[in-house]
Amino acid sequence: MAQLLITGGAGFIGSHTCLVLLEAGHDLVVLDDFSNSSPESLKRVRQLANLEGSSPRLQVVEGDIRSKSDLRKGFRAGKGIDAVIHFAGLKAVGESVREPLRYWDVNVAGSQSLLSVMQEENCRTLAFSSSATLYGLPERVPVTEADPVQPINPYGFTKAAVEQMLEDLSSSEQGWRIARLRYFNPVGAHPSGQIGEDPNGIPNNLFPFVSQVAVGRRQELKVFGNDWPTPDGTGVRDYIHVMDLAEGHLAAIQHLMEQRPQLLTVNLGSGQGHSVLEVVQAFEKASSRPVAYQLVERRPGDAATTVADPSLANRLLGWQTKRSLAEICRDGWSWQSQNPEGYRGS
Ligand code: NAD
Ligand code: UDP
Repeated sequence: MAQLLITGGAGFIGSHTCLVLLEAGHDLVVLDDFSNSSPESLKRVRQLANLEGSSPRLQVVEGDIRSKSDLRKGFRAGKGIDAVIHFAGLKAVGESVREPLRYWDVNVAGSQSLLSVMQEENCRTLAFSSSATLYGLPERVPVTEADPVQPINPYGFTKAAVEQMLEDLSSSEQGWRIARLRYFNPVGAHPSGQIGEDPNGIPNNLFPFVSQVAVGRRQELKVFGNDWPTPDGTGVRDYIHVMDLAEGHLAAIQHLMEQRPQLLTVNLGSGQGHSVLEVVQAFEKASSRPVAYQLVERRPGDAATTVADPSLANRLLGWQTKRSLAEICRDGWSWQSQNPEGYRGS
């Protein structure tokens, strides 16, 4: 079993991945500055993994990935970090348009300082949270890893820049084992409803918005366009249950450690597309609550359809999604109904 450093491990995807990794027997050090998360998520991960509060299997270091001394603290907290999963970063597209420098600073400079400290610490195994956003407006679907990287917003450019940095690094020096994991639309929650997505303020993304309407925190969803070239006219995306995504990280880390590829780039998606209205209906069914919506103009910068071709991840990692849209909505509702105010209510 390995000891892993998880940057951003208190966040939405990080907390679910921590649980899956702990259950698989790995020991973890989480480095997070809690700028977009709460220590409560890790407390609940501990409970779900049946760990004592003080168990050394999950250590938490509060720190910023842009600070090399904070990163070194993360490395020193462990007995010897074998690999890093790098989730920490900023992820809101609209905010990245308003504050590009902050996004380049945290996402790109932060990743650069992490990579320097990894080199210093002789740790060269890394899984990086990339995003389907770097495909921009895909020319064809399903999208494969060979399709062009053509981001259309600052957030996407920062992900593309880090991907390039990782490619340059892996070809500069033997020994690096790097996975660039391109997530499609992560949604849902752990089936216990104890951990889930807890966005700050008004959610930008469809799924948390729909669940907040169902629980009564928001009045109605605005559906951005019903004139897209899709079966019902609303946008189609590849929604992936966050537990499937967490298991994808476990598979990727095992693959890096066993097969030792220098650089690996894979889509993590389900290969299935669902429209906005399909999500609304599935959520209404799972929650037995109405989700009021209004059809409005298209949102600038949106694609009609984005769906992954996940066959490479399937072949290389032996991984594929197992959970349906109905399960995504059931688990998402379990989290939202038990935690209507997210972690703030606890
Ligand atoms: P999240 O905001 O819930 O988690 C990110 C975590 O990083 C948070 O706990 C936050 O406090 C921490 N963090 C932010 N800046 C930091 C810094 N400077 N130093 C240390 N910690 C810092 O987001 P998430 O949805 O879990 O996303 C995780 C990663 O996956 C991100 O890199 C994101 O860009 C990427 N991603 C997310 C999605 C998505 O839709 N959620 C899709 C594709 C890719
Ligand atoms: N969407 C919507 N209303 C919202 C948020 C999103 O109609 O309040 C639509 C959006 O146009 C897209 C889909 O839902 O077709 C998924 O959007 P999200 O922002 O969750 O993911 P992304 O567009 O980044 O893939």
